[in-house]
Amino acid sequence: MEYVTLKNGTKMPLIGFGVFQVPDPKECEEAVYTAIKTGYRLIDTAAAYMNEEAVGKAIRRAIGEGVVKREDLFVVSKLWVQDMKNEETAEQGILSSLKKLDIGYIDLYLEHQAMGDYFAAYRAMEKYYKKGLLKSIGVSNFYPFMLVNFCKTVEITPAVDQIEIHPFYQREEDLQVMKEYGVQPMAWGPFDEGRHHIFSQPVLTEIGKKYGKSAAQVALRWNMDRGVVVIPKSTHEERIRQNFDVQDFHLSKEDMEAISALDLGHSEIINHFNPKVQEMCLNVKIHD
Ligand code: NAP
Repeated sequence: MEYVTLKNGTKMPLIGFGVFQVPDPKECEEAVYTAIKTGYRLIDTAAAYMNEEAVGKAIRRAIGEGVVKREDLFVVSKLWVQDMKNEETAEQGILSSLKKLDIGYIDLYLEHQAMGDYFAAYRAMEKYYKKGLLKSIGVSNFYPFMLVNFCKTVEITPAVDQIEIHPFYQREEDLQVMKEYGVQPMAWGPFDEGRHHIFSQPVLTEIGKKYGKSAAQVALRWNMDRGVVVIPKSTHEERIRQNFDVQDFHLSKEDMEAISALDLGHSEIINHFNPKVQEMCLNVKIHD
């Protein structure tokens, strides 16, 4: 297993398993259990995915059966914006994630979006970091200008910024700023959620042929070779295995350059700069 080391010295796997859009508890539990059996040690969930309980259940099952120990796993969850009104609501959100996961502590807890009072919410996260219940804390969907302001203002620098990164949205500037501030980049949507026929994209497919790998595996390796943590999602066993089987090759400089040319420079999944998108996110309620 390849690891990166976070600013606070914690080791984090370079590849993990995401569970966005897996709302069915049984399906989510089976997918996470299969992922752990396959060898994944990082699981990425969020309060807003409404499946923290199922993730916790799969983890406890794997631990109970002796497949892994708790300390071998790196579990990520996120605070939803509904709970980012102030320090008190954030504290309730953190306690809710800890309770639903029910695995003692959370390895990395992120602010899901730069929305609401994200400074106040982060202070609650700092409090639970100091208590040892959140082993590392960070942010998600923070753009470089926000990240600089945030890093310069908060007490504990975010360990991670989880943002959309894939061959069609490569975000070199974001990676530069994160490097400068010691923030580990983590890619959500590493397959662009299937857009642009990524699984049969000609450049990725041709490169893959040289290594006996699929376009999907090349897309993951491309991020990993830039030092970016990836968290592909799948509920299909064969794909769960395939996506994990990326640790025995590296892309050449020429391959990396060929993939650089695929960058569109913008997201086709979400436009955070659209006021309607902000409104939509702020209106999403995950509890009363
Ligand atoms: P993704 O991983 O880019 O793509 C998932 C899609 O690709 C699914 O439709 C999946 O289908 C398919 N797929 C996976 N592996 C495949 C393969 N080898 N061959 C063909 N198809 C394959 O999208 P994502 O789930 O949005 O992103 C990954 C994770 O990032 C999420 O699960 C979540 O943990 C996190 N995330 C975070 C944020 C944030 O705001 N922080 C936002 C989005 C996502 P099947 O499941 O049917 O196999």
